[in-house]
Amino acid sequence: MPEAAWAIIVHGGAKEVPEGKEDANRSGVLAALAAGRRVLEGGGSAVEAVEAAVRVLEDDATFNAGMGSALNADGEVEMDAALMDGGTLDVGAVTGVMGVRHPVSVARLLLREETVLLAGEGASRFARDRRAELADPDELVTDEQRGALAEHDTVGAVALDGRGHVAAATSTGGLTGQSKGRVGDSPLPGCGFYADDTVGAVALTGTGETIARAMVAARVVTNLPGAGPEGAVRGALEFMGSRVGGNGGGVVVTPEGQVGWWHTSPHMPVAYATSREPQPRVTLKKTEEEADVEPAQ
Ligand code: ASP
Repeated sequence: MPEAAWAIIVHGGAKEVPEGKEDANRSGVLAALAAGRRVLEGGGSAVEAVEAAVRVLEDDATFNAGMGSALNADGEVEMDAALMDGGTLDVGAVTGVMGVRHPVSVARLLLREETVLLAGEGASRFARDRRAELADPDELVTDEQRGALAEHDTVGAVALDGRGHVAAATSTGGLTGQSKGRVGDSPLPGCGFYADDTVGAVALTGTGETIARAMVAARVVTNLPGAGPEGAVRGALEFMGSRVGGNGGGVVVTPEGQVGWWHTSPHMPVAYATSREPQPRVTLKKTEEEADVEPAQ
């Protein structure tokens, strides 16, 4: 029997990687990739794989998600995350959640519920009721974030598993200095993410307001069959830029196991591997020559 196909691609946000942070960004997305692919190679689902990958990025203060999230105008960490199962079109998403270590896992707890999106105190209460891992809100604040300037930095992952299911996940602290209660694209299906087994899965990062106005994820999945993964993301981001401005990036996987990405920001750390090309690949910039790396342990 031929080996089942799997594929996974993760990103660490559309942004400008500061000098001296290149290695931290590369090793961060590679560690997330390793966690996700372990799930897929062990026969786990795409949903489990993207959750595992994003949890690693949430624990890494290099990225604006979970630990090290951007602070809002009140100096607080309010986080958004989402997970979508392309087999069932189930969505679990949280916005403005506080005091949890892994917002993506709170989204996962909501995935099989009728409710799609829980906000603020309701999301935090759900996390407590469902025994999600909690964190003192201050623990999530790093010294670096206290002095940080605005930069985009949502994390995300999409994957295809051996049963032909795709999934997408996003997680973010939003924009530095955003108003309390501001919601970006990351927890909104059709804007910051989407997954459908018949087409593929996409996870976006970038200017949340323009991604929402241009419905970028919906545009990507609509154009994916004709344009292919890279063309679909590029076309949707160019449409966004020309109609409503903003910049961003996105990663895509198809049911055939193709991966692709594009970004209009200066950088977007990306790592990917597939059953056909299992050697992990990592890059900070689309136009940079992709570096072959040793499989991360
Ligand atoms: N998309 C996120 C938001 O607008 C920001 C980001 O990608 O960093 O909340």
